[in-house]
Parts: sequence; structure tokens; C-alpha cells
Amino acid sequence: MPPNVNRNGKGGHMHNYSNLEVQGLKRRKEKTKENLLTDTEVDRLIEACQGFKDRFMVSMLLYTGMRVSEFIHMRRGWIDWEMGLIRTPEIQRCGCRECGRELKNRRGQITKPPGVWKPKTFEAVRAIPIVPEVKGVLKEFFSKHEEVMELIPSRGAAYYRFKGIAGRAGIEHPVFPHVARGTFATLLARKGFNAFELMSTMGWKSIKTAEDYIKLSGSAVKQAFKEKW
Ligand SMILES: [Zn+2]
Repeated sequence: MPPNVNRNGKGGHMHNYSNLEVQGLKRRKEKTKENLLTDTEVDRLIEACQGFKDRFMVSMLLYTGMRVSEFIHMRRGWIDWEMGLIRTPEIQRCGCRECGRELKNRRGQITKPPGVWKPKTFEAVRAIPIVPEVKGVLKEFFSKHEEVMELIPSRGAAYYRFKGIAGRAGIEHPVFPHVARGTFATLLARKGFNAFELMSTMGWKSIKTAEDYIKLSGSAVKQAFKEKW
């Protein structure tokens, strides 16, 4: 991880560190980190939404940090209004095309039979707090629908819709749903959430990923300096 990677609150673009791609290091992840949205880009993305479907998708991806596969598979039963949580299940039946395939591990053992959806990893089974930014759209959505797939039927549909909104927002670097997830992680880090809280909310396997985001945000060192310098 290059030490100069940074995301300073307002305006400004992420550093472009394409040397990481040359090294072939976790290409997708680094691409996400290199394309994180600034505060002004987040505002523009929200303003560029046309209609409820756009607003619902953009706010959910930006302020829950869900993976796009989790988002499109979300159903009424995931929502715990009393606790204010979205709970991703360990498994659910699903008739979508993506879930029609069985998944195998490297040893050829079936890890997911056809016809069901499972979160990416065991750690991805988690509870995500419903923040004020999503409470309204979530209520409105579930007043009319049972599941997200009624509105957004696939990962591809979410991807192209998100790209379209980013285009209208005039954001010039690549933007895809995973960028919203990374942006949410950065926001949590900037707000001072600790590594465990970040890891649990995001559903990461490793505390290292959380520590990376905290390091990149600079929030922890800033706080430490405020207290100790
Ligand atoms: Zn599915």
C-alpha cells in the first residue's frame, strides 16, 4: 500500500496509482480505492438521480456499503425495523440467473447448490445499521415491494443504472457499485469507527482491510495527534 494514498474530505481527486495495477496487486480492490467518491461527487451523484429507483439504489449502496449482489437480493425479511438493522441471511432461495449456477471450491466441492443465494463469505452474514440517509427510501420501498429484484433484477442492471447516474453527475473517473461500498468504508473510517466496527459493518474477513481504510483516511492518526501532541 503506497503511503501517499489519501482522501481528504472535500473536493479533490483520489491519487492515481496505476503502478499498483502494473504490479497486478488485487486489481479490482485497488481500482475501487482509486475511484472512491469525494464528498462533492457523492452530492452530485445524489442530485443526478432521476426518480425513486435511482435514489433508492444510490442511497442504499452509498450508505449501507452493501455489495451489489447483497443489495439486489435484499428482501423484506432482512429488515429488522425494531433494531434498525438490515440482516443479511446465511442462505436464501433464489430463482435469478446468477443463482442458478452451482459454485465449487478449488477441491471441486460444491459450496453453493443451484437455486440459492449465499453471501460471499461467512463474514458477510452480518447486521448493517439503518442510518437516517436510507431509512426513508427503505420504508418507501418496502411499502410497495417485497424484494429489490422487483425493481432491479440483476447485478448487471444495477451496474448500468449506477454508471448512467454517474455519467449524468459528470463524474469523470470510473464509477461502479463497488466504489460506493469503498466510499462508505472510507466515511466510517473518517467518522472514527474502529477497525472491528468497520470490519463487522462491511462484512470483511480480515481486520487488515479495515486497518487499511483507517490508515488511508488519516482519522486515527489525526485524533491521536490531537490528544497527544
Ligand atoms: Zn439470486
